[in-house]
Amino acid sequence: MITVLSGGTGGLKLIQGLVNFVEPEEITLIVNTADDFEWLGLYVSPDLDTAIYLLAGLLDEIKFWGVKGDTFHFLEMIKKYGYEDWFSVGDRDLATHLHRTMLLRKGYTLTNVAALLCRTFNIKVKILPMSNEKVTTFVKTEKGTFHFQEYWVKRKGLDRVIGVNFEGIKQAKPAPGVVESIKEAAGIIIGPSNPVTSIAPILRIPGIKESLESVSTKKICISPIVGSGPVSGPAGNLLNGIGVEVSPFGVASIYRGLIDEIFIDKSDETFTERISSLGIKVICANIILKSEEDKTHLAKLVLERLEANQ
Ligand code: GDP
Repeated sequence: MITVLSGGTGGLKLIQGLVNFVEPEEITLIVNTADDFEWLGLYVSPDLDTAIYLLAGLLDEIKFWGVKGDTFHFLEMIKKYGYEDWFSVGDRDLATHLHRTMLLRKGYTLTNVAALLCRTFNIKVKILPMSNEKVTTFVKTEKGTFHFQEYWVKRKGLDRVIGVNFEGIKQAKPAPGVVESIKEAAGIIIGPSNPVTSIAPILRIPGIKESLESVSTKKICISPIVGSGPVSGPAGNLLNGIGVEVSPFGVASIYRGLIDEIFIDKSDETFTERISSLGIKVICANIILKSEEDKTHLAKLVLERLEANQ
């Protein structure tokens, strides 16, 4: 079994490649839930939903969120009533949020809901939320402290970041199956996901980083940073805000002691020496995942490295 830690974008693109080589039943995806929030009384879990929509073949892959071809009539109407419309939820997407909220109110956990959604859409990859407890990312900026969604979606990530805090993380527990999927994995991949607000919350849940450290299974990360910036999203400003160099070296330094190897872009070969000095093996490849071919090719290389002894 291959276990992948992921947020809602880069890590999932890699999964699209992995399923060409690994039976989906043999892949476990541990997903960040610290971006989750309540929207008009509904529980929204953006990274889990993107994972589910992607593997169900429903994702709008241009935006990389929401359901393809969705309409926005609900949002148009609710705006007329004076509600804020900065978080775009389509009509089909709304059904998922409503369904999840009703199930949570009945006592289901996030794990139960993810499993149920997977069954509905015949998804064989095991999708696990990182935790069933509430963990919330707050971004501290010069203009104030905001929920991650408010910082990124409402305020468009423009405020200068001075810190990041994960509320509730100390009390949170790994969701059922998470530690097991790490302990039983034949290979562990940290996807090309945001290291500050997608992977850090997963790793900081008491017990997860420790279980990763306790296994001798090979652990490989794919850099979400190419050159001096992220392929998408706010990872650059967030890394800067926590005092980490925005480069493949900065990413590697965050995972020092945790990963064995890192894939960086072939255009970033000059970082090899610095990263190697951290005790991390560097593999240079095309890590920008645009086409099916890019995803398939990188997945093949990553699987080969997971199997390699050196
Ligand atoms: P967010 O979008 O930053 O909130 O976080 P996610 O964890 O969902 O994923 C975004 C991360 O994936 C960003 O840091 C991107 O740079 C990275 N990413 C997106 N697409 C690609 C890609 O094609 N290749 C690589 N290497 N990283 C990618």
